[in-house]
Amino acid sequence: MGSNWDETVENFDELNIKTDLLRGIFAYGFDKPSSIQQRAILPIIKGRDVIAQAQSGSGKTGTFVIGSLELIDVTKLEVQALVLAPTRELAQQIYNVYTYIGEFLKIKVLNLIGGTAVRDSKNALENGVHVVVGSPGRVLDMLKKNHLKLAYLKCLILDEADDLLSKGFLENMKDIISLIPPECRINLFSATMPKEIVNLSSNFMNNPAKILVKNEE
Ligand code: AMP
Repeated sequence: MGSNWDETVENFDELNIKTDLLRGIFAYGFDKPSSIQQRAILPIIKGRDVIAQAQSGSGKTGTFVIGSLELIDVTKLEVQALVLAPTRELAQQIYNVYTYIGEFLKIKVLNLIGGTAVRDSKNALENGVHVVVGSPGRVLDMLKKNHLKLAYLKCLILDEADDLLSKGFLENMKDIISLIPPECRINLFSATMPKEIVNLSSNFMNNPAKILVKNEE
């Protein structure tokens, strides 16, 4: 996969994001954006679909956490960002980063993963959250039972998208994608982006900004 997006920023303040988001980034301990953050936060904020390929450890999580937090209207207690990850551990890590970086925005985040009480998930959704981070199984379950509603969803993020879009998860993923509103943007992040995945993504993505950060960066 080649890149088709050139615009970059050197510093977080060049993103022109909400002050409380910028405060959260610095309080978390990020001073300067990593390569993937310099490139891929902007298209998310600008409302583009994004396919980003970068190694693990390159700052992918920060990229989509910051991008999606800028899109969220915190005065509206509705699910506006949905992040899917193939493992509970990864979902938990992502949840933590939202909690820290979203601290000053007073963002409400919910972890929807298997192995926790379904009733707790249901109650938390009824009380209202801005962001849901979960694994496809529990998320789809909550969607089918109509506890999770996506009418206000602004972005769907797939982390480790290569795994999520391969056999074990693909049917669940197709079901979830079929339930997002038409204006919702889709962002894929992965360390590898096999051709089959890029081809498959063309079925549900709209003119994505493609960003490839090479290993040596
Ligand atoms: P990730 O690739 O998202 O798993 O991030 C890998 C590690 O890099 C994590 O420990 C992050 O907290 C850290 N990290 C990501 N972005 C930055 C940044 N801009 N400045 C400092 N550390 C960062």
